[in-house]
Amino acid sequence: MDDDQAQQIQAAVRAYCGEHKKYSATRPDDFPPLIASIQADLSLDEIADDELYCVVAMCILGPVQSIPPADLRYQLVELHRAYAGEGVDRAMEFTIAFGCGKWREPVCEKDSWYGIWKPAYAAVRSVMYTAVQECNATLSDIFKVPGFPEATYWKSQTGKTTALQVAHILAFQMIEEVKTLHLGHHERLWIDYTESGANIYADAQAYEDFLSPGAHTVLTLAAGDIRVEVLPDRSSNPGDAARFLIYPDDGPGNTPLYLFARDKEFWISRNSRGAGRTTLKPYERAAFVGPLDLELSLCNCGTDRCTERHRLSAWSPESGVSLWAFLKSAVKSPDRGLQAKGFAQGMYYGEICKNGIM
Ligand SMILES: [Zn+2]
Repeated sequence: MDDDQAQQIQAAVRAYCGEHKKYSATRPDDFPPLIASIQADLSLDEIADDELYCVVAMCILGPVQSIPPADLRYQLVELHRAYAGEGVDRAMEFTIAFGCGKWREPVCEKDSWYGIWKPAYAAVRSVMYTAVQECNATLSDIFKVPGFPEATYWKSQTGKTTALQVAHILAFQMIEEVKTLHLGHHERLWIDYTESGANIYADAQAYEDFLSPGAHTVLTLAAGDIRVEVLPDRSSNPGDAARFLIYPDDGPGNTPLYLFARDKEFWISRNSRGAGRTTLKPYERAAFVGPLDLELSLCNCGTDRCTERHRLSAWSPESGVSLWAFLKSAVKSPDRGLQAKGFAQGMYYGEICKNGIM
């Protein structure tokens, strides 16, 4: 396909969407009629079907200011061939994931084909919004969770806006995934714990987080050794009667560390069940001591399976799980329906625990 043909396809897609205002990128059944219409309108005999599907999907999901660049068209078609064969069914899923940065390193540039594509991001958010609203209906009507807004609220405009904001946060966590915090020599990431929660902040970087009682988070050690220094109270200085804990058996390489704020104590642990934990009493203070690199997951689920369930980069199309199913189960739970145990491992539950609902 050359650029002229891509231009013709983009114009035809725009015309079609202009006539079909209800076209939805997240409704798989809407795609084949669009393809059929383009095939009928343009003479595209020399273009392979899967190439057409991918480029049409790019025109739906990418920036409108210019045509999809040839290198990205090529890259997407190759990925589609590798994972999905030549069918039309999965072109939208692949293109949404690709547009949100999977299989590439997006640049931070507004309205660029090489950045995150806004409509692709909106598609992810829309699928997650549906899942959030399904959770809300179940939590209000079936579980009747005390203090949780009632079903009528979630059907109101204000409720829908709130659910959309939640979906926006979860979609961002799903796509952005992690932030890396580098601590230089002797720099510290502090944890100040009281019964009202733990304030977590770094010496030299603009990083601050707060865990209320009941909330937890996971840090991943990407480089360096874990040295935890525990100080008796917040007026203590580094080195003052500190208890040092070192985890020597773990060299660098993606070691997770779990932080739990509980009612009367704070745990720093090696797994989600609290194994091998360091415990802080109220008003104790701990620090991770540099040099090290920590990856901070943006997802607040704090579970062992976060990296495989709540990150777009972990979605494996060859597993047979559709992108739609992957996104929905990330929000709600890996189970069918909404079950309390599964829900507690989902992104939405983690977000409610950490930041509340409104
Ligand atoms: Zn997670």
